[in-house]
Amino acid sequence: MTSLEVIRGDITTLTVDAVVNAANPGLLGGGGVDGAIHRAAGPALREECRRIAAAREAGGAGAACPPGEAVITGAGRLPCRRVIHAVGPVWRGGGGGEPELLASCYRNALLLAEEAGLESVAFPNISTGVYGYPKDKAAREALAAVRETLPRAPGVRRVVFVCFDGENYGLYRKLLA
Ligand code: ADP
Repeated sequence: MTSLEVIRGDITTLTVDAVVNAANPGLLGGGGVDGAIHRAAGPALREECRRIAAAREAGGAGAACPPGEAVITGAGRLPCRRVIHAVGPVWRGGGGGEPELLASCYRNALLLAEEAGLESVAFPNISTGVYGYPKDKAAREALAAVRETLPRAPGVRRVVFVCFDGENYGLYRKLLA
């Protein structure tokens, strides 16, 4: 059985195999958890993201990483081994496919972790900051997506939901109780 855990804190401090970043489609670093991850990881991570973004944009894919998709990189100076950059949807009322795109972030991040042989993965509460996704919906959908995907990611033994704010922490505590 894979363990599903919730902790309250700063995801940049965790010694897990992979930390998931709530990235933006350009992979260039922004505010919130993305900014915290890039600040803590240092310039090597930014440079790797820049290279991936340039290659993908040159390949005609449009955005380097469209909402719902994810890419994996090294982790620079972070204590984890890899960073998985997943781009969440911006909340626009829920009728624009947001639930499927949010689920897709969690699913693709777990499948990348599986492919890379990573056993422990920490997720932030994707889209619930600047992107405005209602926290209760996001928490339920994130958990459902993770539970649905785990059978296809048998190497992932531990999933940690890292909540920075008290509201998300309370929601996850309740849902995982
Ligand atoms: P998004 O653009 O996907 O909404 P944000 O970074 O604005 O991304 O917010 C996503 C979530 O990350 C929010 O719930 C926010 O409280 C949380 N967050 C911000 N900083 C950190 C951090 N250092 N560690 C973990 N979570 C964080």
